[in-house]
Amino acid sequence: MPTSQQPELAKSNLKALERTELEAFAASIGQPRFRGRQLFKWLYEKGAASFDEMTDLPADLRERLAEIAEIGTITEVMQQTATDKTVKSLFELPSGRKIETVLIPDFEDDGRVRRLTVCVSSQVGCAMGCHFCATGLMGFHENLTAGQIFDQVRHMDSLARERFGRGISNVVYMGMGEPLQNYTNVMKSTRLITEALDLAPKRITVSTVGLARRIRQLADDEAPFNLAISLHAPTDAKRSAIMPVNRSEKTDLAALRDAVQHYHNKTGKSVTYEYCMFKDINDGPGDAKNLARVVRWAPSKVNLIMYNPVEGTKFTSTNEVALNAFIKTLVDAKVRVTVRRSRGQDIDAACGQLAVEA
Ligand code: SF4
Repeated sequence: MPTSQQPELAKSNLKALERTELEAFAASIGQPRFRGRQLFKWLYEKGAASFDEMTDLPADLRERLAEIAEIGTITEVMQQTATDKTVKSLFELPSGRKIETVLIPDFEDDGRVRRLTVCVSSQVGCAMGCHFCATGLMGFHENLTAGQIFDQVRHMDSLARERFGRGISNVVYMGMGEPLQNYTNVMKSTRLITEALDLAPKRITVSTVGLARRIRQLADDEAPFNLAISLHAPTDAKRSAIMPVNRSEKTDLAALRDAVQHYHNKTGKSVTYEYCMFKDINDGPGDAKNLARVVRWAPSKVNLIMYNPVEGTKFTSTNEVALNAFIKTLVDAKVRVTVRRSRGQDIDAACGQLAVEA
């Protein structure tokens, strides 16, 4: 029993550590390093929620672990399924705060599942304050640990197996938060996903609002996953008006261009620009021409997204006529372009709609 002279020491959260860190943790408590690898298997591959389940660890070690360490978990507190079979889960963190995760099934014409994509959150809320985004309206509250990001994917992978008979095929970091503001944990979580769930890095996409310094760091760290950039406007004036992050010279379009070129030169990879279509804001012919110029910075493609109106904002979605004209201008300029239709709208699971009561 701790006394006022002996305050209780904080327990180590093992669910925030990756394989090499678990090996180091094992060594730090006088255990052989392979115990760390056993812990990795139990925590991430088998999803153990208690040390008692780890039956190939000696009983005295399990007891000791229960005294000095803990397994941080996220708990699903609500689940909704949309008419298009998109699923949105609400998870509670140990802090009591909540995050949302979405499983998006994509079907062939004959009804077979083509892709099962999980959209994960990397933060509670977001500090970037994009004017059209429900998460941005919440402000920033907390960074997620690598284990909390991983657990969202693992949970949705199990759900996908139950509902669709197979595991997830893609992960996108496009839920709540700016992933590159939680750089270390996001990087670690992508390694956990590839290692423990056996998902190739090319199946993972991290999306950023365009933090130039971090994009350079991704290139220097040789991050193997795909990079998407939420552009949403092709000039500084328009972008700064709706995305405060663009108002700094460290993250304006010139800085972004240099970072994207560095990224491409170093990795040889292309980038995807996400572009939400807002009526009368960024959907005109001049915008399409300016966007085509941005796309020439480096090999890339454009994903046009049909916007889902968010309560408390002035933004509405473009119409089909403007969308088609926009696409034609881009195609004429030889830009690779795809259109992403909204999914899960009836449960507020679509892009820009994720927000929970903080
Ligand atoms: S769009 Fe992304 S970066 Fe912008 S406020 Fe929303 S979550 Fe944050």
